[in-house]
Amino acid sequence: MKTEGIIIAIDGFSACGKSTLAKQLAEKLDYTYIDTGAMYRAVTYYFIKHQLDWNNPAQVAMALAEIQIDFRRDEDGSLHTFLNGEDVEKQIRTMEVSASVSPVATISAVRRFLVQQQQALGEKKSCILDGRDIGTVVFPEASLKIFLTADPQERARRRLKELLEKGQSVSLGEIVNNLTERDHIDSTREDSPLRQADDAVVIDNTVLSMEEQLAMIKVLAEMRGA
Ligand code: C5P
Repeated sequence: MKTEGIIIAIDGFSACGKSTLAKQLAEKLDYTYIDTGAMYRAVTYYFIKHQLDWNNPAQVAMALAEIQIDFRRDEDGSLHTFLNGEDVEKQIRTMEVSASVSPVATISAVRRFLVQQQQALGEKKSCILDGRDIGTVVFPEASLKIFLTADPQERARRRLKELLEKGQSVSLGEIVNNLTERDHIDSTREDSPLRQADDAVVIDNTVLSMEEQLAMIKVLAEMRGA
């Protein structure tokens, strides 16, 4: 990893391809990639696994005191999310977690807990973070902010393909409902709602290939010192 460099923030709606794009850009630039959505998913998975009530502040506080999240690479180089030392990469991508993650992400105590860790992880720069509030809250000073968007039907089709490839049985209807619901909760919550930063570059990738998006963003990143 480079020691100097910039922070790149990629925000946008659910299933716009933020993480694939961020991951590939990080490889090209030799940057660290931080999947902040995976952190909210890991907290949600913990609550579900331990049958905790996230509307109960005392239970939330107790849970957060027990939660440790980190990212590690497996032998083939792919990044996995670890929760208290356990690889939970597969568990956090289920529809069960997807259905509860946005309500959990409205809780200010959860946000404070994760934002602090995200800021510490990005402190050394040379870092790409994707999420909903990176350019507005986590790193408002990021050198490059991208706001990704795409047609909702196209996003649902992409997510369906991804989940079917992972062997999950899910319908297009379920995905459309989940994405619509998450976008709504994420955009209307009181604490750090999903919104485009004033200085973000907006990219609608409905008809763009991954290569085209990567090429565009790599140029923008290099112009800003990456
Ligand atoms: O990116 P991903 O779709 O995995 O994120 C899952 C959920 O986590 C989002 O729908 C949102 O509710 C929450 N999230 C958030 N802030 C972030 C990243 C994710 O609120 N920075």
